[in-house]
Amino acid sequence: MTANTGKVRMEEVDALFARQLEAWDVAKNNYAALANVKVKELVVGNAHFKIQFNPARIVSSAAKVDAKSIKERKCFLCESNRPAVQEGIDWGGRYEILVNPFPIFPRHLTIPCKEHTPQRISDRIGDMMAIAHDLNGYILFYNGPKCGASAPDHMHFQAGNKGFMTFDKDIEVAGLENVVTVDKACLSVVKGLSRMAFLIKASDINAGEELFKRLYDVLPLATDDDAEPMLNILCWQDNEAEVWNIAVFPRVKHRPSCYFKEGDANMLITPASVDMGGVFITPLEKDFVKITSDDVAMILDEVCMTQETAYEIVKKLNK
Ligand SMILES: [Zn+2]
Repeated sequence: MTANTGKVRMEEVDALFARQLEAWDVAKNNYAALANVKVKELVVGNAHFKIQFNPARIVSSAAKVDAKSIKERKCFLCESNRPAVQEGIDWGGRYEILVNPFPIFPRHLTIPCKEHTPQRISDRIGDMMAIAHDLNGYILFYNGPKCGASAPDHMHFQAGNKGFMTFDKDIEVAGLENVVTVDKACLSVVKGLSRMAFLIKASDINAGEELFKRLYDVLPLATDDDAEPMLNILCWQDNEAEVWNIAVFPRVKHRPSCYFKEGDANMLITPASVDMGGVFITPLEKDFVKITSDDVAMILDEVCMTQETAYEIVKKLNK
């Protein structure tokens, strides 16, 4: 199936960080600033959330991602438009591993495709798993073109160091209702973590890929013009075992209504994979101060698929 022939060692990525933080002022300053960002913790039911006040992320949260704006800007993921100081590590001749200069994580990578090709996951989940295997100190994530990707026209993954998001810890104690099992992989509905998620556990890339495609094929498209179902994905390998976790968060909305409200009711929050992973980013301090557990619950209810719809999907899967 996929020729997952990348291979990069964690030491090479550590060395890349060391070099870039030395040579690249933008990255150096933004990583240094990260050490001082304010964080608060909120609990919603059984789920733990961190709220991060991160002013540098305004670039991403307020990014214009409509077709016209995208067409009119230079793509910042294409090599020809990147700053000369930004270095990359080749992965399989098809992707590059880059330091993200606007970090949320103490170690934050952007992993664009070498080609300028639209953000699509359908044929790339195997790549995501293979890269997650190589970068086993990281959780990889994918934002759909309408679910937080700030370059929907250029295929890319991101990765952040493990131990930062909360979802991977929380699922260890959450209810997992197994709904499909095939050889070497199973698919569960994650219960009780305040946002609808499917979890695929696989001990083999091909098996994980196959089960993901089965799920992907029955997820609804938000509109007929959409190229793929609205979703966010986290993918990581368990530390000790050769087991992949693929968490799929089907979405019904990109931005919650509070994003568009005026005055006091406004909150500039654009949930993407990291928020689904349990870390809400607030680029504005006023939002960081006022956001409560109830707000988090409300935002998740608004942008995520309902459990009811999820069970409709499960029925289709088992047909
Ligand atoms: Zn590009």
